[in-house]
Amino acid sequence: MNPLSPNPLAPNPLAQRASRFANSATAPMQVSFEFFPPRTEEMERTLWEAVSRLAPLAPNFVSVTYGAGGSTRERTHSTVKRILGETALVPAAHLTCVAATKSEIDAVVDTYYAAGVRHIVALRGDADGGVDARYAPHPGGYANGAELAAGIKRRFSDIEVSVSAYPEKHPDSADLEADIDMLQAKVDAGATRAITQFFFENDLYFRYLDRVRARGIHIPIVPGILPVQNFKQMQGFAGRCGTVVPAWLKARFDGLDDDPATRKLIAAAVAAEQVLDLVDQGVTDFHFYTMNRADLVYAICHLLGLRPDTKQKAA
Ligand code: FAD
Repeated sequence: MNPLSPNPLAPNPLAQRASRFANSATAPMQVSFEFFPPRTEEMERTLWEAVSRLAPLAPNFVSVTYGAGGSTRERTHSTVKRILGETALVPAAHLTCVAATKSEIDAVVDTYYAAGVRHIVALRGDADGGVDARYAPHPGGYANGAELAAGIKRRFSDIEVSVSAYPEKHPDSADLEADIDMLQAKVDAGATRAITQFFFENDLYFRYLDRVRARGIHIPIVPGILPVQNFKQMQGFAGRCGTVVPAWLKARFDGLDDDPATRKLIAAAVAAEQVLDLVDQGVTDFHFYTMNRADLVYAICHLLGLRPDTKQKAA
């Protein structure tokens, strides 16, 4: 065969791409966006720019992370309240068990409920004594995500509860089966969606999904996607939460420390590749860790076929 003439038996990449978009037209994509509460006025402006830009994409919900300690809690509450008051978005408030008794956590749940929140992302959280500290439940507190999910559902059966899942195993877990035991306990407690820790190797997600389904767990396991806005910062997060940073990913960002414009293009290409491969394998729901920045996430959603819904009230 002439090496320069196309091989008629090779898969046609253009046809493959066309079928991907045909699938996405029949199975509309559902996305959710995660934000963190701002610490300064400038961060507040950045957050609201991101919310305004992403709101017209009509996400399924937008979630707001939660930290231990009074001032961080307050920032979560006020961000959630502002989303409820000034946008048509559905907020999901994160809540952790860290450094609080059950009755203190229950009071937070009551406050959210009174404000109109009907979706909570229930988490154990991390030890509040620094990165190397080992987690110990607060005396009188909820011990883990499953106990918290049960506590929320006992108070308000109409609150939707989402929880975490770890395709690469949580660092505290003895093994993946122990992790899936915890996921099962969360489902038994009333959780109806799990959102994964971010990952870069899609095969790991699908292997995890197979094991979860084999255990008879059928709630959506929504992939958490982190567009890499800052490679070094991401490596730090990944090290702490047990996400593998593959050598191929590191190689793609090599030599770009002083070249933010190229870094951004690479980040968009990497995230697009990951998300479109998931779509090709049948995934229709995505949770984006936005880091309060809209541009990469907006571009990826555009690739997914999402277009602004002009009726959606932006911030
Ligand atoms: P759990 O699901 O309760 O436990 C995680 C795993 O660790 C379990 O599978 C279990 O097997 C194992 N485990 C738990 N406790 C023990 C123990 N004592 N001994 C041995 N094994 C144990 N953190 C925040 O602070 N604020 C947030 O808003 C936030 N949002 C998040 C959102 C998502 C989608 C995800 C995936 C994580 C988020 N985190 C957040 C991080 C999370 O708090 C940490 O990963 C934390 O270490 C575990 O919380 P969890 O709810 O996943 O824990």
